[in-house]
Amino acid sequence: MEETKKEVLQFQSEVKQLLGLMVYSLYSNRDIFIRELISNASDAINKLKFIAISDSSLYEKEHDFEIRISLDKKNKTISIRDNGIGMSKSDIIKNLGTIAKSGTKEFLKFSKDCDKKNINQLIGQFGVGFYSSFIVSKKVIVKSRLAGSERSQGVLWESEGTGEYSIKYEDKVDRGTEVILHVKEDQEDLLSHSKLSNIIKRYSNHIDIPIKMKTVDRRENRTFWKQINLATALWRKDKSNISENEYREFYKNLFKDSFDPIFWMHNKVEGTQEYISLMFIPSKSSIDLWNREKKGSFYLYVRRVFIKDISDQVVPNYLRFIRGLIDSEHLSLNISREILQKDENVRKLKKQITRRILNSLEMLSKNHPEKYQMVWDGFGSVLKEGPAEDISHKSSIINLLRFSSTFVEDEQQTVSLREYCDRAEKGQNKIYYLTADNYISAKKSPHLDCFKNQNIEVLLLYDRIDEWMMNYIFEFRGKEFQSISKNDSFLEDTVTQRKNDIIISDEKIFQPFLKRVKMVLEKDIKDVHMTCRLEKYPCVLKTDKNEMSSQMAKLFSSVGQSVPPIKYDFFLNRSHPIINKIMKIEDENLFSRWVKTIFNQALLIEQGYLKDVNQFIIDINQLLSS
Ligand code: ADP
Ligand code: MG
Repeated sequence: MEETKKEVLQFQSEVKQLLGLMVYSLYSNRDIFIRELISNASDAINKLKFIAISDSSLYEKEHDFEIRISLDKKNKTISIRDNGIGMSKSDIIKNLGTIAKSGTKEFLKFSKDCDKKNINQLIGQFGVGFYSSFIVSKKVIVKSRLAGSERSQGVLWESEGTGEYSIKYEDKVDRGTEVILHVKEDQEDLLSHSKLSNIIKRYSNHIDIPIKMKTVDRRENRTFWKQINLATALWRKDKSNISENEYREFYKNLFKDSFDPIFWMHNKVEGTQEYISLMFIPSKSSIDLWNREKKGSFYLYVRRVFIKDISDQVVPNYLRFIRGLIDSEHLSLNISREILQKDENVRKLKKQITRRILNSLEMLSKNHPEKYQMVWDGFGSVLKEGPAEDISHKSSIINLLRFSSTFVEDEQQTVSLREYCDRAEKGQNKIYYLTADNYISAKKSPHLDCFKNQNIEVLLLYDRIDEWMMNYIFEFRGKEFQSISKNDSFLEDTVTQRKNDIIISDEKIFQPFLKRVKMVLEKDIKDVHMTCRLEKYPCVLKTDKNEMSSQMAKLFSSVGQSVPPIKYDFFLNRSHPIINKIMKIEDENLFSRWVKTIFNQALLIEQGYLKDVNQFIIDINQLLSS
């Protein structure tokens, strides 16, 4: 019969090019071949499931769908077998002999400008489909029969991945396709059951079709087909059918975490980019936040097939604690190409994901404040990078911020800006805050004295990032942020106006004294004033509105940037006994020693350190003993 004769055909020239690239590639991405073949098998099964809805004869009495993978160590082959739709002879010629897909064509174009070293990486990102089997094989055999056709219509396709392939009819009893890979000599490590099953699990655990491997039962001395994938894509189930425990177990399993997540967000997105997203907020203990080398965990799937970790492309830095996945419905496996090019799709995706997370956090803070507090305690310092990083979502991020405050007993950051504004007295048109090195220094700061007196709430900021963040947020509900270590902190505020008047009118009386002080500290300060805003402390230093604050200067120098010395305004407490005492000293030498000592005190409090702390101690001790 004419039809059983073997035909030898040429691959389309583009396929030849592609195969050429694969033969010379470096194998670092070789494992993707299994992902591609399993994805084809699962597509074929899904296709059959779909058309069999209207023609049940296509089942051919075989209703259980599965993918079977077996190893033959003697012949050095791996076989991937599905009972899906299968292919006719003309299907095979078209599907395995030409490149119809635009994505792969695109890949070829790309690869021309790419040196050999990078090609393999590209292959991994593009997913070159069936042809990736030649990365690991010296010969590939495909046996297939279209569902519903005669067994004599089975087809045998064979190629060594060079320019040509052969094809002939061969009887095939089972419907569907079997791909047999004759692995290359240097790829024989793949012929290990455990190695192969690990690769399969990594890429295809959530394919919702059972993947079985032939396994030996040593006790009974027989082989059987053992399912090795989970075969459930939890995220594709209806939300109402998933228990909390299932979410938790799924999270711990997928992200290899031993702690329960704090909460999760599960959504289906329709429209031009159709996908399902499932995102988790871990409990703090499990995350290494400051290791920027370590990639986050945000996985991209296309129709349940794992493609890659895309956290660095779609999750903003300030949300890097989020773990999750998206599963795209209509994108081809080539989505990774689009993702990598940082194109429109990625930007949109990133925006949608960011929005979704921020909205969910906002909802959580309203409906479950105690859970939100856990999120904040764990990741607040990361979220604080948000206002600088993401201007377009600044207002949502600001709503999520939590602070320590003079109105709260302990160190925990619990006060929202909304709460602060609700509590503020009518007429107070600023939000007062103080930055410091740590909670204690903030809590005891001399800058707070008069705010305590007048019962005005001050936010206490002492995380390293705070000073930086405050450069990016300016107002909330029409109230400006005001650092109370700046010397204009009281001006223009009706609540505090009264006290202010006193200071200005008082100053004249103290002019001669202030002049003497200024002479002593000429090089170190900008100006000196009397104040009645202090209580416990004899003096305090403040910076000018436009001057860099002490905390900011420290931040800069900690990253090796040189900053010019800050010129402070020096404020003296007009009712403090030490100031009164100094005022009466006539001896210029002694006067100067006292003034320098209280100046250094204030400097120590303001900066948290002194250049020459030993000299400072010597000076104090001398004054104490004199
Ligand atoms: P893609 O899967 O993206 O279409 P591939 O190169 O992986 O590209 O496969 C090319 C085509 O070959 C598929 O679209 C499908 O029509 C056909 N094919 C591959 N493997 C199978 C299979 N196991 N069963 C049926 N058809 C298959
Ligand atoms: Mg494919």
